[in-house]
Amino acid sequence: MRNLNLSDTIAAVATSIGESGIGIVRMSGKDALKIADKIFLSKDKRKPSEFKTYTTHYGWIVEAGNLKLKTQNRNIIDEVILTVMRAPKSYTKEDVVEINCHGGIVALRAVLDLVLINGARLAKPGEFTERAFLNGRIDLAQAEAVLDIIRAKTDSALKIGIEQLKGALSRQISKIRAGLLDVLSLLEANIDFPEEEIGAVDYKRIQQRLNKIDAQMISILEAAKYGRILREGIHVVICGKPNVGKSSLLNALLKQERSIVTPFAGTTRDTIEEIIDIKGIPIRIVDTAGIIEPRDLVEKKAVLRSKKYIDLAVMVILIFDGSKKLDKNDSILIKKLKNKNTIAVVNKIDLKQKIEKNGLSKIFADVITISAKKAKNITALEEAIAAVVYKGQIISSESIILSNLRHIESLRRAQKLVAEAANSMDNSQLSIEFIAQNIKDALFSLDELLGKKFSEELLDKIFDDFCIGK
Ligand code: GDP
Repeated sequence: MRNLNLSDTIAAVATSIGESGIGIVRMSGKDALKIADKIFLSKDKRKPSEFKTYTTHYGWIVEAGNLKLKTQNRNIIDEVILTVMRAPKSYTKEDVVEINCHGGIVALRAVLDLVLINGARLAKPGEFTERAFLNGRIDLAQAEAVLDIIRAKTDSALKIGIEQLKGALSRQISKIRAGLLDVLSLLEANIDFPEEEIGAVDYKRIQQRLNKIDAQMISILEAAKYGRILREGIHVVICGKPNVGKSSLLNALLKQERSIVTPFAGTTRDTIEEIIDIKGIPIRIVDTAGIIEPRDLVEKKAVLRSKKYIDLAVMVILIFDGSKKLDKNDSILIKKLKNKNTIAVVNKIDLKQKIEKNGLSKIFADVITISAKKAKNITALEEAIAAVVYKGQIISSESIILSNLRHIESLRRAQKLVAEAANSMDNSQLSIEFIAQNIKDALFSLDELLGKKFSEELLDKIFDDFCIGK
């Protein structure tokens, strides 16, 4: 369970553990400066509690009590740069102290231990960001954006995260929320004072307003389909007989040597998964072992694994060797993949072509000719992949894109309730109370999205995914 108590001071190593140039120990809470005072010896002899906010200071971390000792007797733990960010203008809205140490595990661990011994408590995963939320600096959707930014695999996923952190999503949802509150107050006035002369409820107008709000939500949910793709990526499998150039294509796409390319048939005995960025879409691409008849147990296992990947894949890139005629094994593959979304690729166009391209064009909507080895026409293939994903839709960079499943589900729930409320206005049997309740429930869903209403379990679910120190 999360600790919603904000009175203690939390600390953690905020950088990844391992050898690196620098590592940061971060502290947040009312005692952060007091603890820093006990262990930081600044070059200019001043204490962190005297430092101005957003200033950095050179000095040493020493064991508490050592500050009073003579220089030669002090036990120096590390040479550091210390930054002070005072409440309320800090990441957590609390006093924050960051200590830039040398990046070795031992130095970082020693500084962290010292901070903990002197009164801080080890932070839970995501607890700094959770405090930013609990202290009201950001809402829940923004807190989740922090994780999306850390995890972004492509520029577009990063952009969605940044927009969400800046509050674009929250503003849009708040607007919808305000619209619903308006409608609710109109309805409730009528419930509270049905006899009074406040004018009869203008059902038509309320219905129009609800329909408009419904349409706004639907359009956000439509764009969200791409948000999921941009965030999670899609699975694409490269298939083909041995030696047609699967590994070479993966390499051409990766623009770096990753899988082993050799001139012998069947060398890619296992699968290799890579995430590549094609037109902003993170594509989880797998180079499979050929899915033809296995010759031994190792191949049998590889073939089974390939099949599993193909089942998972949204799209298959089926490669043919253009310098050879189609044969029985090509037909087997074509048949096996007939239910998949497939892009046919004729490789080795730098060699004399023998393949029956017309025959392929009859079977596949997309036949792209390339040379993996010479990196020819790879862009055309990338465009074909992107076209299949976007299905001709263009996402405007202005529109907000929901990518988080929790947000999508909350918004979908709200949208259904609003649509139901709008439709039921045609039905004179239904009471205004019923419609008002629907709108209240929709508002509840939106409040959950923004974190105006939350349970401890929800915070657990969200912040447990974070790394410690964020
Ligand atoms: P895989 O078994 O399908 O993964 O095929 P590889 O990528 O290992 O390639 C098999 C052989 O075909 C290697 O000798 C590659 O250099 C060669 N090859 C791959 N692509 C091309 C191409 O576009 N042109 C030519 N001429 N050779 C290619």
